[in-house]
Amino acid sequence: MQLDPRTMLIVWAAINVMFAGMLGLISQQSDNIRGAKQWAWGDLLIGLSFAIASQVSFPPQFIIVFLGSIGVGTGMGLLYNGIEAFRGKRCSYWVPVVLSLVLFLNNYGLSTVINEPRLRIFINFFLFFVIHVACARALLIRIEPGLRTAYWLAGLSFSLIAMLAVARMINLFFLTNSTVSMFNTTGVNPYVFFFASMAQMAMSLAFMLLINTTLANQLKNLAATDPLTGLMNRRSLDMEITRQLANEKRNGECLSLMMIDVDYFKRLNDKFGHPAGDEVLRRLAHLMQSVVRTNDYIARYGGEEFCILLPGTTETQALVLADRIRRLFTDLIIEWDGNIISSSVSIGVADTEHDAHEAHSLLSAADLALYMAKHQGRNRVVAFSTYGQHDVSVIANRA
Ligand code: GH3
Ligand code: MG
Ligand code: MG
Repeated sequence: MQLDPRTMLIVWAAINVMFAGMLGLISQQSDNIRGAKQWAWGDLLIGLSFAIASQVSFPPQFIIVFLGSIGVGTGMGLLYNGIEAFRGKRCSYWVPVVLSLVLFLNNYGLSTVINEPRLRIFINFFLFFVIHVACARALLIRIEPGLRTAYWLAGLSFSLIAMLAVARMINLFFLTNSTVSMFNTTGVNPYVFFFASMAQMAMSLAFMLLINTTLANQLKNLAATDPLTGLMNRRSLDMEITRQLANEKRNGECLSLMMIDVDYFKRLNDKFGHPAGDEVLRRLAHLMQSVVRTNDYIARYGGEEFCILLPGTTETQALVLADRIRRLFTDLIIEWDGNIISSSVSIGVADTEHDAHEAHSLLSAADLALYMAKHQGRNRVVAFSTYGQHDVSVIANRA
């Protein structure tokens, strides 16, 4: 295979500019994703500087060395900062500045002040090695599970370029003085340019995959959660009940469901205003989160109604927890706009041992128990199994 490094550098530059355009468009559409803009600018600067560098002749013109070094240094620094920003860290703006400066001093000083091509190329590739290892490290430590593939792809692309830089540094010592140059066609040099441009493409694709997966996860979260309280929404609850019922059938464990409704919430809204009502809902959600176990599942069922799904919990145990929530909420004092607000909840409890084995019947059993708690005067907890025996006429009247 006959590969010309200068041509490869132009191809590499073109790949970068093309991906910069794509990343730029993507970053415009996903402006809540940090780092994407830096990746786009980084790719563009590296691409343009490589295009400039591919035209360099000896002795090099000051302007070409200046623009090439500043562009590559800033571009690579931006890729690094983009990764840090994407991972929620603070950007170190000195990285592109220092990188650009050292690259410029090296390329200008060791070509015009003294002519040391071997050392100059060695330092260039050493700097590439350092920044690519830093990027790979930033990508490969503590990876979030949902983004594993994209992080690995990006991390491995940076690692590959770092390894190619090492290969080039070692190979420099085997070249004769007459053949040492940035674009020498002997040794590993042509292959370094070829594989590095491929790795650069994989890296940009990995950035796109990172953005895409993050957006998909954000959408999934938005579709699954209630924005006011941050709890799961009714859609997620329906799916979770079906999943838990399947578990319950497999393991023979009892599953309980609590349905919680704020008493006279409409009056509270009317008296203190809707924002005060919102605050009460947030505080109730927070209170419930603080008392349940990690594998219990709280959801906002709608309006001022909440559900808690309790795996491996009997009706008796659920009743104890429900009464604790009821008492804690009754004792809760909420200060809002100079007013003191207190409220209460009614709770209906049902389980799979006594009451229901299907999702819809478990929900309607808890709902009927809640209805009974309201009917009996509010601020109380009622279990479906006990209420059914006491007052069947209530269901008949409700229907
Ligand atoms: P009960 O004791 O029988 O449950 O009476 P209630 O007033 O709590 O029940 P009702 O169903 O009559 O009223 C529920 C109110 O909840 C009506 C609605 O405006 C209010 N609501 C629903 N969603 C929200 C919300 O997100 N924020 C606020 N502030 N109010 C809400
Ligand atoms: Mg209510
Ligand atoms: Mg209600």
